[in-house]
Amino acid sequence: GETVITADMVDSLIKRHAPMCMRNLHEQLEEKHHLRHYARLQYNLFLKELGLPIEEALIFWRRSFSGITDDKFNKEYRYNIRHGYGLEGRRLNYPAKSCARILTQDQPGPQDNHGCPFRHFSPQNLSSALSRHYSLSVNEQSEILSAVKQGHYHVGCTRLFELTHSKLGVKKGEGLGNGESVSHPNRYFERSWSKFR
Ligand code: SF4
Repeated sequence: GETVITADMVDSLIKRHAPMCMRNLHEQLEEKHHLRHYARLQYNLFLKELGLPIEEALIFWRRSFSGITDDKFNKEYRYNIRHGYGLEGRRLNYPAKSCARILTQDQPGPQDNHGCPFRHFSPQNLSSALSRHYSLSVNEQSEILSAVKQGHYHVGCTRLFELTHSKLGVKKGEGLGNGESVSHPNRYFERSWSKFR
């Protein structure tokens, strides 16, 4: 059955199980206490699909945007977050963005944090983000960087999944399971989390 996810659980779940795109958004949010529109959109829908209920999402976002008043939060952000949950406006049930959408739509500018690190980070930034978050060997890291250099972003992401789950028995070529490569951040998260449950 579905596990109820609370605002308090988000930090450790993301750090353990989320793909790089979402770890990056989470980290930027922690650091700046703010995310711009498309970054919020990408992360909010991801968290929704992960199973974070709206009440917990509002707690999570309110806490994260710690530099502003309740009034400003309610006026400028609450509606947007609820909108993502299909509770405002036309009440559409927006799906979380797939890798294909993240890679091709709403290209991030220099001030933005949304997008896919494999696709949108400079080689230097990607390399330093990989070193900061994961303990990969030099060879493992260059394997990922060379896939990215050839434009195979999902290959880089899938290989990172394999390497960071190798202690749990995931082998090269297995991907998310049966050779499936990463095509959606939520599938990455679910497969990772399922290995610990
Ligand atoms: Fe996220 Fe997909 Fe990029 Fe992986 S390939 S970091 S899941 S957008």
